[in-house]
Amino acid sequence: MVAVLDTRRALLALLNSSAEQFLSTYGWLRGLGPQDFAPEKRESSLRDALVGPPYTPTQTVERVAELFQLAISIPKEPHRIAALNLLLSHIFQNPVTIDGTTQGSALTVDILAGTVEPRPRDLLDALALELMHSRKVVARCALCSKFFYRQWNKDRYCSPLCGDEARPRQQADWVAKDRAKKKGKQPQTKKGRKTQ
Ligand SMILES: [Zn+2]
Repeated sequence: MVAVLDTRRALLALLNSSAEQFLSTYGWLRGLGPQDFAPEKRESSLRDALVGPPYTPTQTVERVAELFQLAISIPKEPHRIAALNLLLSHIFQNPVTIDGTTQGSALTVDILAGTVEPRPRDLLDALALELMHSRKVVARCALCSKFFYRQWNKDRYCSPLCGDEARPRQQADWVAKDRAKKKGKQPQTKKGRKTQ
């Protein structure tokens, strides 16, 4: 793992770049364990996705990116949220071997200090922790769909560039909506009557 890692930048790279680009900048990413994540099975149930073959580094990055994107948007169904929690918890609970030393979990316990803290063991832990901390401030640009860190709650665009480009469109949308609304006020159809 890189000694000093800008986890925000790394998380955005995972969410926004291609797997190849991510790999060339940050290197190999640990899979989600012996139970890897298979997005082709995701539609039926996230829980099914726990079983999968070993994946190539590119596939692993793609799968982790999909999982993280899903975590940011948060699925509606409670059972999918539960499955998401389970998958994310595997990241911290799966053993990691670095230079021949295996660490069982990302939790570090210090009885003298009386603390239990998650400590990233590798890049995947670091990214998952960043996701846990920042999920609510990461948003998707309303224009270019890139993920970005919001500075303000109402931020909708990833950059001033996207904001400037979106403004005339927004105004055009508003005018169109306003026109439709005014039109809608005129009685046109009667409710409950169907034409066949
Ligand atoms: Zn944008």
